[in-house]
Amino acid sequence: MKLATKYIHAGTEPDPSTGAIMTPIYQTSTYVQEAPGVNKGFEYARSQNPTRKALEDAYAQIENGKFGLAFSSGVAATDAVIKLLSPGDEVIAANDMYGGTYRMFTKIFAKYNIIFTYINTSDTDTVRKAVSAKTKLIWIETPTNPLMNITDIAAVSAIAKKAGALLCVDNTFASPYLQNPLDLGADIVMHSATKYLGGHSDVIQGCLVMNDATLREQLYFIQKSCGAVPGPMDCFLVLRGIKTLHIRMQRHCENGEKVAQFLRAHPKVGKVYWCGFEDHPGYQVAKQQMRGFGGMMSFTLKDDSIETAKRVLSSTKIFALAESLGGVESLINHPASMTHASIPREERLKNGLTDSLIRLSVGIEDVDDLTADLAAAIG
Ligand SMILES: *Cc1c(COP(=O)(O)O)cnc(C)c1O
Repeated sequence: MKLATKYIHAGTEPDPSTGAIMTPIYQTSTYVQEAPGVNKGFEYARSQNPTRKALEDAYAQIENGKFGLAFSSGVAATDAVIKLLSPGDEVIAANDMYGGTYRMFTKIFAKYNIIFTYINTSDTDTVRKAVSAKTKLIWIETPTNPLMNITDIAAVSAIAKKAGALLCVDNTFASPYLQNPLDLGADIVMHSATKYLGGHSDVIQGCLVMNDATLREQLYFIQKSCGAVPGPMDCFLVLRGIKTLHIRMQRHCENGEKVAQFLRAHPKVGKVYWCGFEDHPGYQVAKQQMRGFGGMMSFTLKDDSIETAKRVLSSTKIFALAESLGGVESLINHPASMTHASIPREERLKNGLTDSLIRLSVGIEDVDDLTADLAAAIG
């Protein structure tokens, strides 16, 4: 089935009791049983909910996986993956990733004696050298947030398999429309569905997708035992968002390319980080493992002062100054003080995340209005 057809029909069947074409919002906490232990597969809504089930099936289908699990946020999905581990286990993680993931690893799980090693996962040799007998999980993002670095998923997956470790890919930036990590050998795909999957900046949610039935049982056990499940209304919103993922992503990609080229040609702009440039170090790998390059990018100004960056950040009229990404509307963000403020400054600078870096989530408005807005703000 082609992507457009899959996204529109994923997970949804006409409702068996009424024929409603849209999956109803089953706003219930419990289900009446015919006799003790005799039920229709639904007992208590922390464990099962029909709206959530439709969405979990959709998640599995759009990531070419067998099983999907929905969580109350992206970080709750990440939390569930780390709870597979035991004290003393080691995680190899990317040194350039979502600030909230770094915060959870360093501030929450390190004290339970899970060992986190941060490396540049774009360099496959560095990953190979970093794995040890203790490595139980490799955690990567590609493209990374906010520097748009690319990691070769198939190569890292081969390293993980050899080491007997799981590979989990945070696929939030690419979305399933541009990249399917399970097809490249990953064990788990994680999404912040808050971003492109929901697509309308109106819901917080996360998900995990996997192929292995044992892994699904372990993660489902964590989901129901720890209880970070999304409500049915939020599941409905993401189900609706997924139906237009393909057309939104096509426009994000088209607009992204035009905005990246506009910025690169601008005399006051310094470096532009976008993985669709042929001279981007990860371009060849990106071209191989992605269907397009998306609408996320970062840039610096030639006048590399914080003041100038802040002036640009506060001057755009269409690009709204806000955290988050992946919605239909364009957003502008200052990673050093906003999304990545939880990473210590020295760590940020080591990885190239300077104080003046500006990140864009290019939306699906008319691209001429977007470039005019940036031109006016940059001045
Ligand atoms: C937003 C985001 C998360 C966290 O997801 P929430 O839904 O905000 O909990 C994780 N990874 C990436 C890449 C993100 O952009």
